[in-house]
Amino acid sequence: SRPLLEIRDLNLDFGTPRGRIHALRNVSLDVPAGQVVGIVGESGSGKSTLAYTVMGLLPESADVKAGSILFEGKDLLKMPAPARRSLLGDRLSMIFQDPMTALNPVRTIESQMIDIQHHEQGSRSEKRTRALEMLHRVGIPDPQSRIGAYPHQFSGGMRQRVCIAMALLVKPALLVADEPTTALDATLEVQIIHLLKDLQKEIGCSILFVSHHLGAVAELCDRVAVMFAGEVVEEGAVRDIFHNPAHPYTRALLECDPGRIKKSTRTLPTIPGEVPSLLGSKEGCIFRTRCPQAFNRCLQENPVEYRIGVDHVARCHLLDEERLVSA
Ligand code: ATP
Ligand code: SF4
Ligand code: MG
Repeated sequence: SRPLLEIRDLNLDFGTPRGRIHALRNVSLDVPAGQVVGIVGESGSGKSTLAYTVMGLLPESADVKAGSILFEGKDLLKMPAPARRSLLGDRLSMIFQDPMTALNPVRTIESQMIDIQHHEQGSRSEKRTRALEMLHRVGIPDPQSRIGAYPHQFSGGMRQRVCIAMALLVKPALLVADEPTTALDATLEVQIIHLLKDLQKEIGCSILFVSHHLGAVAELCDRVAVMFAGEVVEEGAVRDIFHNPAHPYTRALLECDPGRIKKSTRTLPTIPGEVPSLLGSKEGCIFRTRCPQAFNRCLQENPVEYRIGVDHVARCHLLDEERLVSA
């Protein structure tokens, strides 16, 4: 069956006073139905831009140059604005790094949780009951007495649980989560990851999960896309990415992480070398200035996507050279 979300050759620029920033370059990525796909990569690699593009929540300065995003077979980029908006909070929902992005500070959790169900059948009291069940499900103690509270009356961790409850109350086909646990401490993070996994299985939705944290990705995801400077440089099953990485950038990420997917690793390690200018030319491999294995061809030609396994691809000329050697 075809994937729930199919991103094809997406190219996106931001217009800035300094010039155009190529934030996404030829990004292709599938999210299969019922699976969790992680996006990892250092700061500025385009993870949030990709998440916001799927949600249709980009700023005015963003310019989609080319590509398509098929969701349930329809191109989100060609959909009229009202049709696209009506998907939000229905087939598509999102959780943000800062829960206050999604919550209205001057309204009670109860009214927000009832409103979010405007696409659903049922009376107000049925919707209230569903909200209470979901709050209980995400581990809010004594939902009956808490549902009338305002967002600021909850702790950060509890607010993120409320956001997860709201996002999943509408039983979306796709949940987009942009660093939902980055602001939380490690113990809370583990709890939230387990909660997301349980709810995802229960509802049967897909999740696009953006994270800096390799441990969280290993725990939650079925597949992983590794981004660098606006490109997906490697993509595959979580097992392949962590145990058989093919791209020098992915390898560097994992080598810097001594316990590999150890839980204590809260953030991606930094890899020495210069960050490529996103304003610069598109010639050559995007990773060439930092790659320990760069060779002549890397300076002239941007690698295409090479298939390594049935379901594992990477953009690196070495994969072509190896192929030539072994042929
Ligand atoms: P982080 O891990 O820090 O959240 P990220 O991978 O989510 O990083 P993005 O926020 O998607 O990265 O940014 C990708 C690139 O696009 C960066 O160079 C960033 O500076 C640029 N960018 C993002 N949003 C805008 C904007 N509104 N206007 C101009 N440039 C932007
Ligand atoms: Fe390194 Fe060249 Fe591969 Fe790019 S194409 S990752 S520079 S070896
Ligand atoms: Mg981001």
